[in-house]
Amino acid sequence: MTPATFLSKQQLAPTLFRVDFLPEKPIDFIPGQFIELVLPRPDSHDERGNRRWFSVASAPHEKPLSIITRFHPSDSSSFKNSLFSLDSGSELLIADAMGDFVLPKDSSLPTIWVAAGVGISPFISKARFMKHNNTKRSAHLFWTTSQDEPLPYGADFAAVLDSVFVSDKKSSLTPEDIMSQVGADLLDRSLYYVAGPEKFVEGFIDKLATLGIPRHRLIGDFFHGYEA
Ligand SMILES: Cc1cc2nc3c(=O)[nH]c(=O)nc-3n(C[C@H](O)[C@H](O)[C@H](O)COP(=O)(O)OP(=O)(O)OC[C@H]3O[C@@H](n4cnc5c(N)ncnc54)[C@H](O)[C@@H]3O)c2cc1C
Repeated sequence: MTPATFLSKQQLAPTLFRVDFLPEKPIDFIPGQFIELVLPRPDSHDERGNRRWFSVASAPHEKPLSIITRFHPSDSSSFKNSLFSLDSGSELLIADAMGDFVLPKDSSLPTIWVAAGVGISPFISKARFMKHNNTKRSAHLFWTTSQDEPLPYGADFAAVLDSVFVSDKKSSLTPEDIMSQVGADLLDRSLYYVAGPEKFVEGFIDKLATLGIPRHRLIGDFFHGYEA
């Protein structure tokens, strides 16, 4: 665990926030990985405790380390209420990054990125990393949200991706949207990265598998704790 300082939060949309931390020593990660945040124990907390996993939304070259999360003041866990009432300079702990939701080293492999809501977070890290390194690779983004909110970091995505498709109704993002946007050839050759609430990711991966995409090309990042 690395001690870290809470710096600030920035509202990106009515219920979507970026939260910034400064770790005491750098935390190594590859874009797409996640960390665990451990908050000081509040006076009272619900049964789900004072620790949560979050994808890192910042890129490795950036300081501070950022996450993106939802917060509804009237309907949140004790963890989120504690996180959102931290004063600048408050101390917490961050566990080492882990996870395999990372792009392949071979940049010639085409990729398709699918995210629901806050599942956009690991892709922000990837896009900002690609932009910083001037990386060229085939990548198409499909983002769906049930909220009235713009795509966070849309300019970064537009700068590095081949296309960006935004759907504002969850039910309307389907594998057929991907097919019509990228064409059958790319559909067959791509690696698929799907992130968001667990039920969304499971459902979308199953639909892609039904279309004949082999499971080893379907990579999920399952955000437990959110409804689909
Ligand atoms: C690999 C991985 C990566 C992740 N990355 C991210 C990320 O980048 N960003 C992110 O936001 N999350 C991420 N998550 C999910 C994260 O760990 C939390 O589970 C999620 O943010 C929900 O937080 P919360 O449990 O504090 O609930 P809240 O966000 O406060 O609430 C979520 C839902 O739970 C309900 N709820 C609140 N309190 C209770 C309660 N006491 N009992 C029952 N229901 C309640 C709320 O009504 C709401 O519908 C990730 C999870 C994993 C496993």
